[in-house]
Amino acid sequence: MRTVVAKFGGTSLADAGQFQKIKCILEKDPSRRFIVASAPGKRFPDDIKVTDMLLGCYQHAKNGEDYEKDLNDIKNRFQDIIDALNVDFPLSNEIDIIRKHLSEEPDSQYMASRGEYLNSQILAAYLGFTFVDPAWCVCFNEDGSLDSAMTKRAMSAALRPLKNAVVAGFYGADSEGRIHTFSRGGSDVTGSLVASAIQADLYENWTDVSGLLAADPRIVDSPKSVEYLSYRELRTLSYMGASVLHTDAVLPASNLGIPINIRNTNSPDDPGTTIVRKLPEGKIKYPVVGVAGRLGMSVIQVEKVMVSDGSGFSAVMLDILRERNLPFEQCLTGIDTITLVIRSDLLETCKDELMEEIKTKLSPDYLGIKENLSMIAVVGERGTETSDANVKVLRALDEAGIEISTINQGAGKLNLLIGVPEERYRDAIRAIYASIDSSLNEAQ
Ligand code: ASP
Repeated sequence: MRTVVAKFGGTSLADAGQFQKIKCILEKDPSRRFIVASAPGKRFPDDIKVTDMLLGCYQHAKNGEDYEKDLNDIKNRFQDIIDALNVDFPLSNEIDIIRKHLSEEPDSQYMASRGEYLNSQILAAYLGFTFVDPAWCVCFNEDGSLDSAMTKRAMSAALRPLKNAVVAGFYGADSEGRIHTFSRGGSDVTGSLVASAIQADLYENWTDVSGLLAADPRIVDSPKSVEYLSYRELRTLSYMGASVLHTDAVLPASNLGIPINIRNTNSPDDPGTTIVRKLPEGKIKYPVVGVAGRLGMSVIQVEKVMVSDGSGFSAVMLDILRERNLPFEQCLTGIDTITLVIRSDLLETCKDELMEEIKTKLSPDYLGIKENLSMIAVVGERGTETSDANVKVLRALDEAGIEISTINQGAGKLNLLIGVPEERYRDAIRAIYASIDSSLNEAQ
């Protein structure tokens, strides 16, 4: 039988009504056997996520302040769900355990994890599934990094004998039993690890949108949703700021070629976006899948006659960055120039020193820095071979009077990266989207 892992995010588990929707979704397809659950998220825009409530509570305890009210508010969030669903769950005992932890040596990761820990047990009791605590099967090293091989073995051993289970998302533990969490939104990563451990046929990621949109809806009016996407396209779009799936959630599933389907709990019949290794032949007519971007970039430009003559100029430049542990986003070399795109926040404390060092070590003919830039990625595996997408995009920027600081188009043709001034970022996204919108239309 087919096995599907279904991860439900915070908004999908925010209250009892959402739990009921999940039950219907699972009843519709019994191959959805392994569920990964987040902590309750926001029920309405100004609501507070339970994870944030737990972290607030931890902070009060850490500062020696009163945390009883926080604990009570957290308890109430769960109690409301338990009462409405009529589930048998010893919430008071669990809250007492958390209270005891807070009175001893409060730990932020332990506290952050309790939302998933409690919510998953309540969901498991409601569904009649087995609860699996990832403290036993998501294995962290002491430095907080994930032990992937061990996790795969432990997770597979824990899940294989079970007919169905709810695994709490977001955390695991090291060999001493100390709780570690992934970064925020990390239940997506747990879902992918579960899918990989049991070699699932499909990893469904249920959220509150019907898949990935081709552009940020806060900038572009009703952007199209994307039906199919490759893993590489997704990684690029999420790295560039499209927030639909945690960046680290792609690899465990993509290594085994497990498709990831982003679905909407509030609109379960929508097909959502399916992310695959190889785009299905014939289904993808358009070359560009989406546009996303990041603000807060700086560009350092170094000029010296014959940079590219093999004398190691570029290597010295990159060594300077490596020695400073300073990652760069892009490095473009021309006949006489090297252009480096670096996140501005990383330069904040070392900019002057860095410029001085470049001057001393490379004696450039010209050295300059441009700040307050944004980088926009126009992403599409089909790239530019099959279309005039690049031409359309650049023409659109020109017509909108937007100055282009850098253009980077790798041979992989996955994406076109364009640097534009931050104050024109939104205009640029709109102009680019409008230029590719007609081709997106063709695909629907
Ligand atoms: N509850 C955690 C967060 O709010 C993890 C998650 O929902 O994936 O970040």
